[in-house]
Amino acid sequence: MTAPDVSLPDVSAPDVSAPANILIVDDESQNRRLLEALLGHEGYVTSTADSGEHALVAIADDPPDLILLDVMMPGLDGRQVARAVKSDPATSKIPIIMVTAQTDREARLAALDAGAEDFLSKPVDRAELWLRVRNLLRLKRLSDLLEKHQVNLEAQAQARTAELQARTVDLKRFRMAMDATHDSIVIVNRTTMRFVALNAPTSQMLGYSRDELLELGPTELSTSSRDQLAALYDAIIAGRGRTASIETAQRKDGSTFPVEVHRQAQRAGADWIIVTVMHDITGRLRVQSRLEDMAHFDTLTGLANRTLFCETLNRTLAYASASGETVAVLHVDLDYFKNVNDSHSHAVGDELLIQVSDRLVECVDDRDTVGRLGGDEFALILTMPQGRGDPSVVARQIQTALARPFRLDGHNVTVTASIGITLHPEDATDTETLLRYADMAMYQAKQSGRDGFQFFTNAMNTEVWRRLELETALRHALKNGEFVLHYQPKVELEGGHVVGLEALVRWERPGFGIVPPSEFIYSLEESGLIVDVGRWVIVTACEQIRDWRRRGIDPVPVSVNVSQRQLVRGDLENDVLLALDIYEIPARLLELELTENLLMTSADHTIATLRSLRSAGVQISIDDFGTGHSSLAYLRRFPVDTLKIDRRFIRDVTRSSDAAATTAAIIRMGRSLDLEVIAVGVETQPQLAYLQSHQCDQVQGYLFRPPLAVPALDPLLLGRSSLMAATDQPAAPPGDTALE
Ligand code: C2E
Ligand code: MG
Repeated sequence: MTAPDVSLPDVSAPDVSAPANILIVDDESQNRRLLEALLGHEGYVTSTADSGEHALVAIADDPPDLILLDVMMPGLDGRQVARAVKSDPATSKIPIIMVTAQTDREARLAALDAGAEDFLSKPVDRAELWLRVRNLLRLKRLSDLLEKHQVNLEAQAQARTAELQARTVDLKRFRMAMDATHDSIVIVNRTTMRFVALNAPTSQMLGYSRDELLELGPTELSTSSRDQLAALYDAIIAGRGRTASIETAQRKDGSTFPVEVHRQAQRAGADWIIVTVMHDITGRLRVQSRLEDMAHFDTLTGLANRTLFCETLNRTLAYASASGETVAVLHVDLDYFKNVNDSHSHAVGDELLIQVSDRLVECVDDRDTVGRLGGDEFALILTMPQGRGDPSVVARQIQTALARPFRLDGHNVTVTASIGITLHPEDATDTETLLRYADMAMYQAKQSGRDGFQFFTNAMNTEVWRRLELETALRHALKNGEFVLHYQPKVELEGGHVVGLEALVRWERPGFGIVPPSEFIYSLEESGLIVDVGRWVIVTACEQIRDWRRRGIDPVPVSVNVSQRQLVRGDLENDVLLALDIYEIPARLLELELTENLLMTSADHTIATLRSLRSAGVQISIDDFGTGHSSLAYLRRFPVDTLKIDRRFIRDVTRSSDAAATTAAIIRMGRSLDLEVIAVGVETQPQLAYLQSHQCDQVQGYLFRPPLAVPALDPLLLGRSSLMAATDQPAAPPGDTALE
């Protein structure tokens, strides 16, 4: 008999198999395209079917790993398709997610009743879609593995039994074979209730010598009494007893352990003997309990995972409905986590998530729950008895807790989070809706500049659909040439001359007019489109410089804004050098603006890229300076020429002593490091006066000019007269003069 293979497959190992194939079934082409785009974005392979009938043909031809199934379709509807898939043994294991605009309970139950595993409401929330798809695929993989393992175990048990039956009771030969296994095999005489034979592993397993065991009987080694065992044996002899069971065995030292036991009765002359095979299942149970833990706890951080978090929220809501308590759900999403992951190793990203989870736990009471929903998304359940205050206090505590730098791989890394808050029963009363609303509110917090929190409002519901439409429209905008660059002058304070221009992208969206970047840059970054749009900005700015030069206008340096993704995912160095080369422009005429946040989360290769560009002559400036955790030491690390003081400080410079002190300190710091300092957002004379009195080098703001379309720049670039005289008039709003 060979030792049974009880090692479970390692389900925690990364999935190195081919990308999952997902079938999208929807009669509306727009919905199919949207789901295809969203899933394609995450690396899934998709195929589509436009009706239930076509779906069944496609599934039979090439069974997918998962099906996204629209409920309402002419002809065979989603429920009928689900039923057909689930009733065919060849396809019954394929997980199905029903997608429907119906949100009432009956519709959901009907879908689940048809066999679907999960449910998604339209409009589909992108994060929720990815999460559910990922989870279901993971579960499917897990259950495939467990099933395979189960089949192995059963085959082994059958083989063991068959082998035992085939043998005659030639004990000597039998014992040799028995010793070759890891299982304990004992033969008990039913009449005497003593062991008549046992193998060596039995001694090892139980801690007795062979002779000691032969002196004893099964009763002494079992937690069952002699009568119970005798009754069990008799039942087996009579052909009706349970031959397989999980029992507890006892060692000589009194300790116990779980065993899987198989018993067979055999006639031996006038007597009956009972052949018992005992298999130690301590290891298997440990793995099983680990799997159960994995089903409920996040393996990285040890926090509740999405499943357990939702179960806990369900229970909390049921209790709160009865007690009248308010429950707040907070969705916490780290800002720029992708940057950390992209710039450093994944191990560093994981370590950051672990440290963040520790800090989140510090912010809540024992009665509250912290969970990890996936990736860099965390969620909190706060129960608030009357008078416990409001959840924004906890949101602020989280911001404070995260503000301390994280020590990762020898570097200090700072992260912030965007937090969405929703309340039960005010906003919604069920788990799913609350989580969706908290996610929407979090998204809003991101759009409002990150590092903040937002309560859910009903207006956010329509926002989700708008967001998806926006992304689709942006994909077309680049192809259709709907982006344009406006340029805002930078003015040197001493003489009032234009010494530079900042290129700022605008979207001439058909039917919407000119859309400012605040409404679409985030979406470009999220979707990764920023890499292509960023390249277009560089090329267009260089082409513009070339045009000015051709027209005999000696141009001033033009700066372009650069996003993190361009550095990490794109090939910024190549894009820049190629554009300079094609348009034959000296590198000193191009400047790159990178935000302080970007630089702080940058890895060494980013710094190397910037060094190389700078040594080629390209200027580098730090945008939004003063908002991060800048220090002299950190500034020295970067190849930088200019600091751009964040607009928010300039806005408050004449009314907040903090803003004034920060502005003055940045100007001093810049001077001591021999860097140019430029103040952005100068709108009033008093602001200008403050900057002049502190000897700031340059200014940029509506007081001089807003960003301008190309034709409006000619007089400025040609005349080069001082703009200082014009600043007595109030600052013009940007829209009016943009097309001047
Ligand atoms: P930024 O780089 O800080 O650009 C300066 C922003 O301040 C511009 O907003 C400009 O119009 C605005 N501004 C200038 N003077 C004043 C003033 O006196 N008062 C006020 N209230 N605002 C002033 P804009 O053009 O809306 O751009 C916003 C942000 O969008 C930029 O901030 C930049 O981060 C981003 N952005 C713009 N174009 C691009 C681009 O091509 N690529 C990337 N990655 N980001 C871009
Ligand atoms: Mg800028």
